[in-house]
Amino acid sequence: MKPIQEIYPLLSTPRRIVITMHQKPDPDAMGSSLALAGFLSQLGHNIAVISPTNWPDFLKWMPGCRNVVDFEAAKEKALSILDSAEWLFCLDFNAMHRTKHMAQKLKELQCVKVLIDHHEQPETASFDYGISLTSKSSTSEMVYDFIVGSGKAELINQDIASCLYAGIIGDTGSFRFPATSSDVHRMVAELKNKGLQHSIVHENLYDNFLEDRLRFLGHVLLYRMEVFYEYNAALIAIPKSDLLKFNVRTGDTEGLVNYPLSIQGIKLAGLVIDRDEERKWSFRSKGDFDVNTFARTYFNGGGHFNASGGRSADSLQKTVQAFKNAIKENATQLQ
Ligand code: 5GP
Ligand code: MN
Repeated sequence: MKPIQEIYPLLSTPRRIVITMHQKPDPDAMGSSLALAGFLSQLGHNIAVISPTNWPDFLKWMPGCRNVVDFEAAKEKALSILDSAEWLFCLDFNAMHRTKHMAQKLKELQCVKVLIDHHEQPETASFDYGISLTSKSSTSEMVYDFIVGSGKAELINQDIASCLYAGIIGDTGSFRFPATSSDVHRMVAELKNKGLQHSIVHENLYDNFLEDRLRFLGHVLLYRMEVFYEYNAALIAIPKSDLLKFNVRTGDTEGLVNYPLSIQGIKLAGLVIDRDEERKWSFRSKGDFDVNTFARTYFNGGGHFNASGGRSADSLQKTVQAFKNAIKENATQLQ
């Protein structure tokens, strides 16, 4: 993978570019992709943004989101766009399998592939150019750096600023998490100078749910959370019946995994959801407990040091037992 700076001289020739992101995109995946699309289209490129799957309603306000192609819902269209792509930008994921059913197609494509990402252990051999910085708060911060590095920061407009800001607050938990560096705050100051209306972005992301989602949250915290004080760990396990009862939709479970970490002393939180095709895990930690390794070791996943995910083909009950065994094995590290 050559350094991403080497593509700057190539940006002056208009190209057909596809930008894609990880499945079930979050504010950082969608925000960074739409911001990059907004930037590259001003340089005269022909841009298409493709998501491997659908995305939550709370991202639909993002400028440009209306034109994003859902690979699962419009497969023929997406495949034909991919077939004619000259460049493929892969944002906010480190390995092709994170694009689910699109992964095989992406691997087969012969076009130039570019990575911009902040996850651990990227598959760099899959990319021609790229940048992978695990110290970065978000891919949105990296897209900002990419634009500034190109010498064309003046092209950052209010739409791009809104998308980047959404990604930043999504991945930093609104400036809480350790990766929130002084660079992040300086970037936001610059975005404010570009006309960013930060409180509107917050409202669009976080005050846009239906009543069902709040009732679901109450139910889950009351009945589905288990705390293991001797291991400083907590678990939320959500059966399929809850998803049906509360009409849970894509994105409604976003952020749930953070709640157990607000309990005094808890260092590790696990959330598992009984999805049709698999049991999907999310992990979060505080301090020096490495959930990237934890997810890789026990749950076929990965991610970042303090935020990761994984999956299991076992039943909900069985994978919950696997979590309980895993925290016992990690008792020393969790003290
Ligand atoms: P989330 O819990 O928000 O879905 O994911 C937390 C972090 O872990 C994200 O950065 C996400 O990209 C990563 N992640 C989530 N699930 C998986 C997985 O199954 N495999 C890998 N390698 N990373 C994951
Ligand atoms: Mn991210």
